[in-house]
Formats: sequence, C-alpha cells, structure tokens
Amino acid sequence: MKGVLRLGRVAGIKIEVHWTFTLILVWVVFLDIQAGGNAKSSLLNVAFILVLFFCVVLHELGHALTAKKFNIQTQKITLLPIGGVALLDKMPEDPKQELLVALAGPAVNIVIALFLSVVIPLKSYFELQPDEIEPLLSIISFQNFLFYIFIANIMLVVFNLIPAFPMDGGRVLRALLAFKLPRVRATNIAAKVGQVFAVIFFMLGLLYNPFLVLIALFIFIGAYAENRMVQQISILKGHRVEEAMLTNITLIKPENSIQEVVDILLAGSEKDFVVVADEKIVGILNHKDIIKHAVDRSLLVKNIMQRSFKTIEATLEITELFNIINRGRKNFFPVTSNQKLVGAIDRSNIGEFVLIQTNLVSKRS
Ligand code: ZN
Repeated sequence: MKGVLRLGRVAGIKIEVHWTFTLILVWVVFLDIQAGGNAKSSLLNVAFILVLFFCVVLHELGHALTAKKFNIQTQKITLLPIGGVALLDKMPEDPKQELLVALAGPAVNIVIALFLSVVIPLKSYFELQPDEIEPLLSIISFQNFLFYIFIANIMLVVFNLIPAFPMDGGRVLRALLAFKLPRVRATNIAAKVGQVFAVIFFMLGLLYNPFLVLIALFIFIGAYAENRMVQQISILKGHRVEEAMLTNITLIKPENSIQEVVDILLAGSEKDFVVVADEKIVGILNHKDIIKHAVDRSLLVKNIMQRSFKTIEATLEITELFNIINRGRKNFFPVTSNQKLVGAIDRSNIGEFVLIQTNLVSKRS
C-alpha cells in the first residue's frame, strides 16, 4: 500500500500506519477546539487516539500470533482510520483453528479491559447517578483517561463480534457453522446473516446516525467479497496452473528495443512478457514499465525488465497460486515444467478460468 509509515516489526510482522490516519488526529483536535478545549485537552485527545490504536495493534497481533501457531504467516498489520487490518496469508480452513484465530483479537481487548478494571475503581463510576457521572467524566485526569480506554476496549469487543464479515464475529459464525456444514455452505449462510445486519444498520443509520450507514456498506461489501472468494476457491480446488495458464505467449529477448515491445503490445492482448535468453528465463517485463518507458525509444528490454521474478510449477494448485499472489506484489508469473518454460499466468487468467468453471458447475447441477 502506498503512503504508509513503517513503525517497525513485531515477531517478523511489519507494522504500518496509513497516512490517512493522521486525519483522525487532526479531526479530534478540531472537535476539541470547537468544543472550547485548550492545548492540554487537545493533547489528551490525541494521546487517547494513540493509545486506542495501540490497543488495536495488540488486537491484530492477537489474530496474527494465533495464526502463526497454525503455521500461517502474516505479512503486515496496517492501521487505517477505521481500524487495523492484519494481512494473513490465508484464513485457516479448519473450523477449530479459524474460531481460535478470529476470537484471539477480541480476547486481547478483553484482557486489556480486565487489567484496567483492576487498576481503576470501576465501582465508583457505575455507582454514580446519571446526573453525577457527566461532571466527573469531564474532569481531565489520568483515571478518567484510563476509564475511557476501558470503555473503548469493551466497544472494540462488541463491535468486532457483530456476526458479519469482515468483522471477527462473521468468522466466528462461519467457523461455528462449519463444524456441521461444508465450508462453502457455512460461508454462504454467514454472509447472508451479515447482509441482514447490514440492512438493519443501514436503516438505523438513516434514522439516527450516518456513521452506521458507513458501517452497513462496509459489512455489505465485506460479506459479498468473502462469499465470492470462498466460492471461487472451492471451484478452483483440485485444478492446476497448467489448466488455466496462457500457452500462446510471445517471448521477448533482452536485446529487443522498447519500440518492438510496444508494437507487440498493441498488436495482441498480452500485457506482461517473459524475457528469455539462450532458452533461459532472465526476467519479466511488466505492462506498467513498458508504458512508463514507451517514450524512451533508446532503451532496451534488458534496461527495464525485472530481474527478480518467481516461476511457478505447471502442476501447482491454482488455490496455492492465489496465496502466493496475496502474499506478494507480483501478479505475473512464468510457468515451468521440468525447468522448461511452458507458459505464463496472471490474475486475469485465473479470473477467466473461474468464470468458465462456474458455468460448467452450474450447468452440471
Ligand atoms: Zn479482529
């Protein structure tokens, strides 16, 4: 993702924050000043957001480190204004493992809340009359600060356990259903439940709070995407890269000029190319690099080709290739069989293959 600030690594997982996150800090300061705040209260609000997002990082680490126990790596955790995202290589398909990975995030917030409930005298807050609580909470104190963090962690647990994708609760529901049902069917039901929640939130949002409308859209799209992905993976199961790959590919030589490549690009439908010298793959030429350098006619392919590339075995399962694509930034792969180049594959090939298979499956049933 572009525009991110790297904060560091924890257990090999990159922690990044997206630049839009700073908007939320500007926004809380703006709200505070509008409400008649001063430098001290503004600083406190900023500190609150930072501590809250620290709790979100711990939540995501809960997912990531539990997944690691099941040999699933996490590339990075990104903080966005709407929360954190842990980019796991995949979700475990075993329902018991998925349940544990999904619950591990909210469990972290429960632990934080429990810890805070020991540190701060919660009783003194909950025993107050409603009209007494407001003046107390408006006092700027360390204890109040911790109380807000406590409440925020409880809210994180409640919000994340809404049984709708892409929330953790959606995964919990799917995992529970998958103990009894096939995973595709379980996902389908969980996605439908999620969409019902989305509709309810949407209507409540229209009546009371526009923020709920946003959450509703977020859930609706999340449910759709998750359902689609799982259906696709189930369709692709057992199929190998050689069934979907492009075999009719134009080979490029390192000494070819950019002009020659541009001509090939315009004449056909290939977008990325494999560069070959002495029958060996020496690089790949990406569509965006060709476009970027198309004006510079003096360049040769070897000047702009990417020398770091990954080759894929023709017999690899397409679902495995999916995981490889999700893990890295690469999108186009030369395919080999017995160390000889036999074709190439990219995302749109897989997409096309999915469409054809979907049609075959629906015709059969
Ligand atoms: Zn979570």
